[in-house]
Amino acid sequence: AGTGKFFVGGNWKCACNHDDYYFGIYNDFCLKPVQILQNGTKDSIRKLVADLNDSKLENDVDVIVSPPYVYIDVVKQSLTERIEISAQNSWVGKGGAFTGEISVEQLKDIGCKWVILGHSERRHIIGEDDQFIGKKAAYALSQNLKVIACIGEKLEEREAGKTFDVCFEQMKSFADSISNWKDVVIAYEPVWAIGTGKVATPEQAQEVHVAVRDWLKKNVSPEVASSTRIIYGGSVNGGNCSELAKQEDIDGFLVGGASLKGPEFATIVNSVT
Ligand code: PEP
Repeated sequence: AGTGKFFVGGNWKCACNHDDYYFGIYNDFCLKPVQILQNGTKDSIRKLVADLNDSKLENDVDVIVSPPYVYIDVVKQSLTERIEISAQNSWVGKGGAFTGEISVEQLKDIGCKWVILGHSERRHIIGEDDQFIGKKAAYALSQNLKVIACIGEKLEEREAGKTFDVCFEQMKSFADSISNWKDVVIAYEPVWAIGTGKVATPEQAQEVHVAVRDWLKKNVSPEVASSTRIIYGGSVNGGNCSELAKQEDIDGFLVGGASLKGPEFATIVNSVT
């Protein structure tokens, strides 16, 4: 870790249990063994909140959790204020006649401070494109909702030597829409590492983080490059977090499966070096 305050976010997705592994077709894009998460329930979320409230978290870390929309309010009411709440998505503009969507205004109203945008599941399963995601970031920031901006390459892109191209292209869409970077955290999440148990090596992650920081330096400004936190996500767990956290340009983590277990999530938060 090197830049700013260590940042650890827990992405609870549409789920609340990570004991099940499943070999099969998860979606049209992924035929590898992947983790299938059971749906979160009121009971499982109550237990997770209680575990988080009981855990000892290092002071010098920003800690965020991102429950499914329908549980944000109950989590906000019961979770320690030490942990801030993020949404997993938001509507692209001001709320209105957009059936099924949740607006930035509503998220702020129920106490969300953050939103995750550009998560690979939204890009590759739901089909959100770079431009749409960039617009969402611009709108959220304009309303003072902070943004966890996700980027990352698919396996075939890495194998074709296109990792940097893909990440820079995704960065460009964010940069085209963002004028103030102080409320932005970048999450590098290689798609092949998300929910697969195949974590990037510390060297693989560090290599991309340095490249993204360098891209920010050249394309935004040296100040933004040196002050923006770049966190890693993709199969981070209690066992692999400390080696990753030692890397100079890894400023924290975005955690999926392992954030559904309070004590393990606390271990990841406390891996700050
Ligand atoms: C994520 O969903 O952002 C993520 C990194 O998931 P996991 O930790 O389960 O790979």
